[in-house]
Amino acid sequence: VVRIGVLELQGDFLEHRAMLKQCGNDIQPISVKGKQDLDNIDGLVIPGGESTTMGRLLAEFDMLETIRELGLQGLPIFGTCAGCILLAKDIVGRPTQTKLGLMNITVDRNAYGPQTESFETQVYSPRFKEKPLRAVLIRAPTIVQVGSGVQILACKGSEKEPILVQQGNLLASTFHPELTEDTRIHLHFLDIVKAYTSLQ
Ligand code: GLN
Repeated sequence: VVRIGVLELQGDFLEHRAMLKQCGNDIQPISVKGKQDLDNIDGLVIPGGESTTMGRLLAEFDMLETIRELGLQGLPIFGTCAGCILLAKDIVGRPTQTKLGLMNITVDRNAYGPQTESFETQVYSPRFKEKPLRAVLIRAPTIVQVGSGVQILACKGSEKEPILVQQGNLLASTFHPELTEDTRIHLHFLDIVKAYTSLQ
C-alpha cells in the first residue's frame, strides 16, 4: 500500500483524494490535518485553494517546518496552484508570505487576473505526448523564473510559460489536473513516490 497524504486544511483536497483513488487500488489517501498525520506517509499532496490562508494555517498548526524538513529529506510533494505557490522559493511582490519555499522557482500570484479570468486550455507536452493535457487554470499563478535543478515538464501555449515543473522529489503545477479525468499527472507523481521509497 502506498500512503499519500493529502493536506486537508483548506482547498480542493476532495478532488485530489478522488483522483488518487482512481490511480490504483494500492493507493491510500491519508487525510493530513495535523502534524501527527505526517508521520507515516510516502508522499504529500498540497491542493489548490488560497495560499495565504493555507500558509497561515500550516504555521498555526506547527506543520510548516515539519513539511519543509520532510521535503528536504526527500519526501515527494506535489503542489497544485496554491500548493505550487507554497512550494516556490520566491513570490513576486510578496517576500514575506508564509511558504515552504522548497522549489527553485519564482511565481507570480494571480498573474492572469481575478477569479473571472479563470480558463481552460490544451497543453502539448513532450513528456505526456499521447494526448494534450487539459489545463484548468483558476486564479492561477505563473512561474516566471526557473532555477537550477528544475525540469520543465509542460508549458502553456506559444508564450512557453512553464505550468508543470519538477525538482527531484518535488512536483508543482499551476493548473488543476485533479479537476479533470486525466490521471497522468498524478500517476507521474506516484512514479516519483515509487522511485523515492525504493531509495529508502
Ligand atoms: N490565487 C490563489 C492563491 O494565491 C491560488 C488559486 C488556486 O489554487 N486555484 O493562493
